[in-house]
Amino acid sequence: MANTKTPLIFEIIGECKTTKARVGRMTLPHGPVDTPVFMPVGTQGTLKGMLPEQLKAMNLQIMLSNTYHLGTRPGPEVLKKAGGLHKFMNWDRNLLTDSGGFQMVSLLKLAEITEEGVKFQSLNEHKNEVMLTPEHSIEIQNAIGADIIMQLDDVVKTTVPDKERIEESVHRTTRWLDRCIKAHENPETQNIFPIVQGTLFEDLRRISVSEHIKRDVNGFAIGGLSGGESKDDFWKMVNICTDLLPKNKPIYLMGVGFAVDLVVCSALGVDMFDCVFPTRTARFGCALLMTGQINLRKKEYAMDFNPIDKDCTCNTCRNYTRAYLNGIVTDLTVACHLLTEHNLAFQLRLMRTIRENILNGTFKEFVQDFMANLYPDKDYPSWIQDSLSTVNINLT
Ligand SMILES: [Zn+2]
Repeated sequence: MANTKTPLIFEIIGECKTTKARVGRMTLPHGPVDTPVFMPVGTQGTLKGMLPEQLKAMNLQIMLSNTYHLGTRPGPEVLKKAGGLHKFMNWDRNLLTDSGGFQMVSLLKLAEITEEGVKFQSLNEHKNEVMLTPEHSIEIQNAIGADIIMQLDDVVKTTVPDKERIEESVHRTTRWLDRCIKAHENPETQNIFPIVQGTLFEDLRRISVSEHIKRDVNGFAIGGLSGGESKDDFWKMVNICTDLLPKNKPIYLMGVGFAVDLVVCSALGVDMFDCVFPTRTARFGCALLMTGQINLRKKEYAMDFNPIDKDCTCNTCRNYTRAYLNGIVTDLTVACHLLTEHNLAFQLRLMRTIRENILNGTFKEFVQDFMANLYPDKDYPSWIQDSLSTVNINLT
């Protein structure tokens, strides 16, 4: 019998016998989530060009919303009055919110990181300073009411070589985690995930994991990757973290969404992913395929009366041609919608295929076929060969 006071139950329902991949079912307050899962990113409580009812029809089980945007508009007061973001945006499935820190770093002029929090220069005319503390981040995320909320972390870019600074960020992130847990008002309905930091230093990643697993939390995130480091460094850090983190809780790799990364990192044992890429690239006319991506603005598609992908069952592929999209793809909002729907359907289909193959015991063969499709000349990048060979898949 499920404990109704646990806002996250994670059951592993299948494990790959070759790799570290597994299929799980995560039960959250707003329903089940099948893992490995890709979570698309909505801003201002919406996925650009898609309605919540369309997302439900596509069987999307969880999406991400940005705390920074929601904290600014509509703001925590409106969200509280509305009874939380689920009600406000008419989405009765699961939501995950970030801490707001990363968005602030990318959108505002970063003034200073202190023990108290992250200080920014506001971009309005008064140029006043804004402080995001762990407590403030949780206060906004409590008002939003997402099923999974993220701790505020001290993020150092992977391209920063200063180990002393990175070590400080690891320990500060743990201290901020404790402040977040203390400030959290809804532990029975919202899960806080800690974020493992340490950039590209294995010893610091170990420290970060060993501290975070002492806390009473229901899942973990791997942060600070996918920010300009080499692919070789990227997969090694993911692999170390999935080795060290407990197997009975979901592992979320932040900011990763390219198809090839989803396949490799699922093999390395990651359960959850998010990225703006599939929906953002749609707005530039890019459609995702199992063999890579195509830009529908190109002249070569002007007379191409095939669907984007003949194997895709999404509404766009069933009803529209590449030629139709070619003429309107970046000009009309309807085209933005059509392409966003396809790219989202692509991500969902890829993850469903990964899960089915893990459960059927054919994941290894699936990965080999997927890579052969993507690299028909078999000129596999070395990072893909190396990462897969650590989990016993050889590409020949
Ligand atoms: Zn499609």
